[in-house]
Amino acid sequence: MLVMVDLDDTLCNTWEAGKYTIIRLLPHLIRKRKFKAMFYILTARYRELEQSRELLVLDLDKMLQKIMERVYRKIKDKDLEEMVQLVDRTFFSNLKLFPDAKPFLEELKRMGAKIVLVTDSSTYWQRKKLEYLGIKDYFDGIIISGETGHSKLDPHNFLLARRMFPNETEVYMVGDRDDTDMKGGKAVGATTILVKRGYFKGRRAKYADYIVKNLTEALEVIKREHEKRA
Ligand SMILES: [Mg+2]
Repeated sequence: MLVMVDLDDTLCNTWEAGKYTIIRLLPHLIRKRKFKAMFYILTARYRELEQSRELLVLDLDKMLQKIMERVYRKIKDKDLEEMVQLVDRTFFSNLKLFPDAKPFLEELKRMGAKIVLVTDSSTYWQRKKLEYLGIKDYFDGIIISGETGHSKLDPHNFLLARRMFPNETEVYMVGDRDDTDMKGGKAVGATTILVKRGYFKGRRAKYADYIVKNLTEALEVIKREHEKRA
């Protein structure tokens, strides 16, 4: 059995930590008189970035730079550096594993599953999260968009995960985003399980075989499917 799993908002509370970070960033932007950037945040214009393949493979500093350059044509290195430090510090002090994440990974291991993490964003940022959350050793493979040069909007990284274990015929993809995790999972013939939480919680699902509330339910789905095939 091969289980591909997403990181952000599937195993850990990225959007929640992100929201705290944005709230913390607002007074900083006021102090710096960066009202246009504040307006960008408050009107949720960042939604336009969701489909950006480029942004999904960048490091935090490059990502913030790109966003600020959308708002202002140029941003001073010193201003950017201050923002990066504030965002990094606030984000990591709020980042946590969901309580069902470790039991989920441990039970999959016990069942003899191969687990491959398939995640967007930069190498540095994602590896730092894995270190910080202490879950690196659960994975038999780690595929990060910043390392492959392809975001999960393309099937490329899912194919890589699939090819790591070509003899496994029972394949699952567990994630929180329909147009990346579920669509990519489908592209490689996986049974797709959408965990409805985090930033994309309210979106309609087109590519999910199953929709669940948490990883405990996702595990139940995998066990049921597994028994059917036994
Ligand atoms: Mg995610």
